[in-house]
Amino acid sequence: GEWQSVDLNALVDEALMLSYQASRTQDSSFNATLERDFDPTLGELDLVPQDISRVLVNLYTNSFYALRRRQLICGDPQYSPTLKVATQGRSDDAEIRIRDNGIGIPPSLIEKIFTPFFTTKPAGEGTGLGLSLSYDIVVHQHRGHFDVSSIENQYSEFVISLPRKSVAA
Ligand code: ADP
Ligand code: MG
Repeated sequence: GEWQSVDLNALVDEALMLSYQASRTQDSSFNATLERDFDPTLGELDLVPQDISRVLVNLYTNSFYALRRRQLICGDPQYSPTLKVATQGRSDDAEIRIRDNGIGIPPSLIEKIFTPFFTTKPAGEGTGLGLSLSYDIVVHQHRGHFDVSSIENQYSEFVISLPRKSVAA
């Protein structure tokens, strides 16, 4: 992919709509509340939009899967699957925060989720490559940061930060 100056809020929102539609195509009974909290001053960043889109689609797809799993398991009619997406611009970087109230990640697994081929999904539903590829794109290609925090059966939150200045060679 090519480095380009990109409206990050638009990229984050486009990937969200694509991923949500794909999840609803797989399971038309699935509904989630999408909450957006976008920083209107975020502006444009130098990045490889194709690759950052892949990262976002990976994260959203994982979140929708986790929301569907929790909905199936808990059987609570009050449970409301929710995905929150927030952006925040700062002087040197931009932060993207993706939080779902899905099944969460147990402490024993959280160190392993970025390992290539690690998956808890049944064969055919996950390759275990999404997060390792996403980490590579954010941290190595874009010189950004990638963080996760989670509590089992409560939430998972993935936070990405991307530097404002291009790091293209
Ligand atoms: P895959 O989606 O193919 O399993 P990933 O690398 O995208 O591979 O994710 C690895 C594992 O991390 C998943 O199988 C799952 O156990 C865990 N995981 C990732 N995102 C979430 C999330 N939002 N909620 C709960 N578990 C997650
Ligand atoms: Mg995945």
